[in-house]
Amino acid sequence: MNDASGSNHWQRRWQPLLQQWVIVAATTAARPWSGATEKATQNTLPQHDPDCYLCPGVTRSAGTTNPDYKGAFAFDNDYPTLAAHAPSDENTENILQSFAPAIGRCRVLCWSENHNDTLASLSEEKIVAAVQLWKDEYISLSALDDVKQVLIFENKGVEIGVSNLHPHGQIYATGFVTDTAERMRNAQVTYANAHNGDNLLQAMLASEHVQKSLLVEKNTYWSVIVPYAARFSYETWIIPHRAIKSIADASDAEMHELALCYQRQVRRYDKLFQRSAPNITLLHNAPCDDHKDNQQWCFHLAFHPPLRDKEKLKFLAGFESGSNNIVNPLKPEDAAMVLRELAEAEK
Ligand SMILES: [Zn+2]
Repeated sequence: MNDASGSNHWQRRWQPLLQQWVIVAATTAARPWSGATEKATQNTLPQHDPDCYLCPGVTRSAGTTNPDYKGAFAFDNDYPTLAAHAPSDENTENILQSFAPAIGRCRVLCWSENHNDTLASLSEEKIVAAVQLWKDEYISLSALDDVKQVLIFENKGVEIGVSNLHPHGQIYATGFVTDTAERMRNAQVTYANAHNGDNLLQAMLASEHVQKSLLVEKNTYWSVIVPYAARFSYETWIIPHRAIKSIADASDAEMHELALCYQRQVRRYDKLFQRSAPNITLLHNAPCDDHKDNQQWCFHLAFHPPLRDKEKLKFLAGFESGSNNIVNPLKPEDAAMVLRELAEAEK
């Protein structure tokens, strides 16, 4: 079968950036559903919650009082997963008891002083400031000698266990390159070596099939696409139209448009799922160690929505947990069509 979109309901698709197979089983979405459903929750939050450790003026449990901030604000996570300083000893010789220090900085980023704001509801000024905070934090953290990668991300929604609804994201600036970044870096350099130095993500974006069937939005500097081997039903990536390694390389004009493009995609998810939609959002910057292969990296932003329709959450069940071959119950071209229609309705 040569049709890139595939006419079959069952297909394995290669995810070239993560170097893994994804199973597209487009019949399982229609399977009768007798499991849990996730009802939309109404936003009845107060503008200020004195019990919220992210709100201005609140004293956090570790004893620090938040300033009376306005707009975007970042601070060190009081309960970091990584140690700022750790013993530098390591043991990689005994494979059965191999260890290394878990060094890094964990930061919390608030998008607004208002507890009841969401990314979708932020003013243009505030969303631009939030995205600028990503860049400012990336630049300062990546300059630290003991930081090898800066992963900026957001976990949003009670559906995925996020108890604090104050609009916020996080950063783990790690003293090591994470497994996923290693995999992405290897994939990009391998592609470049086999294709006269071409950039994997730029090639993906330029492909006729993506342009025809997987594009959601194209603006001056960025495109929103559903990846051909999407692992989540409505997974999307925001890819720059030139291969920048990190958000630090984006111009002011690119940053401004990224902020608005990002917010438009968040709003599309809210419309699609008829709620302030839960999401996991990741900014894939190149590692900031001095590895030569970082040159082939292309920055992108990935949304991993956990909902597969407006009431059903995606769980990694037995087969997927055991195989690492994620099953997507929706054909990516169909997801792109739905999201594209939402994008076109905005015009
Ligand atoms: Zn709050």
